[in-house]
Amino acid sequence: MRVLFPIFKMGANASALEKEIGSDQFPTNEHYFGLVNFGNTCYCNSVLQALYFCKPFRDKVLSYRAQPKKKENLLTCLSDLFNNITTQKKKTGVIAPKKFIGRLRKENEVFDNYMQQDAHEFLIYLLNTIADILSAERAADKQVGKPNSKVSTPNGSLSNNNDHHHQKNEPTWIHEIFQGTLTNETRCLCCEGVSSKDEDFLDLSVDVEQNTSITHCLKGFSNTETLCHECKYYCETCCSKQEAQKRMQVKKLPQILALHLKRFKYMEQVHRYTKLSYRVVFPLELRLMNTSDDATSPDKLYDLVSVVIHCGSGPNRGHYITIVKSHGFWLLFDDDLVDKIDVSNIEEFYGLATEVQKTSDSGYILFYQARDL
Ligand SMILES: [Zn+2]
Repeated sequence: MRVLFPIFKMGANASALEKEIGSDQFPTNEHYFGLVNFGNTCYCNSVLQALYFCKPFRDKVLSYRAQPKKKENLLTCLSDLFNNITTQKKKTGVIAPKKFIGRLRKENEVFDNYMQQDAHEFLIYLLNTIADILSAERAADKQVGKPNSKVSTPNGSLSNNNDHHHQKNEPTWIHEIFQGTLTNETRCLCCEGVSSKDEDFLDLSVDVEQNTSITHCLKGFSNTETLCHECKYYCETCCSKQEAQKRMQVKKLPQILALHLKRFKYMEQVHRYTKLSYRVVFPLELRLMNTSDDATSPDKLYDLVSVVIHCGSGPNRGHYITIVKSHGFWLLFDDDLVDKIDVSNIEEFYGLATEVQKTSDSGYILFYQARDL
């Protein structure tokens, strides 16, 4: 005879995390899984968790899997990993990102070792690689759909080359999510003429100073710089080198703003990087103050969604962890460990107000998501 066990709302298998969140509070269709460390791969785990909780990114990565079977690449591996998390029966646990790490090590020799890597370097590599994969697939699809790729334009010239160039510059969903535009304005101090040049970015790297805030760092980023002496600027109007003022502002605000705090500084005297553990406050809500006059919706409100935190004293030493916001509460991911944290704990990751120690657990990459209006 079979013995039927009573089914409790939360079984005996429920993890400490599940119990802490509470069965009635645990978000439906959400999973909190730690990632196994394969020998100093926390730089990778921390970034993957931060990105997993950037909703637009997660959705796109998961939907990539629904497309016809592709040859294995870094994006198929990432998509499989995200899918593995979202389809788990359990709500919490640990997953080994084995295939993804294997692929990463195969594709880029920088990551093909057991040394600690820079999480920011990995983030940029990952975003660029995904964008390249998507661009290449789109180009290949167009080639298939268009057997005769040499198309005549109305004036009879062949637009083959232009077409190719255009495809390469067409934004992918990586650009739709992360790309913003900076405008670099130079004002000639002689004729007052202004010239501007636009530059796209997937993330912003900002200098850090002691006892400041992200708003301050961004202001510093856009500070007016005077070009004088040997650095004079060639003015097209004056047809000569002139003193000028230069400043960089945000013209197009991205959907997700990734901010990299330049905490690793090269010290000439010791020939190595040292960590700046400065206390830099990052707010839960952010508005950019360094937008250009022609920016569209410059007062966009951003919410902090995840932070990659560096723990330790230097880029090749130490450890990376991540804090994320999910369904209104905060979680800390430390490789295979996941904990719920109180929002008041976040300030522990601002850095140190006194510089006695170089080692700290401090915010390194911040992900802010624009609030839907
Ligand atoms: Zn001039």
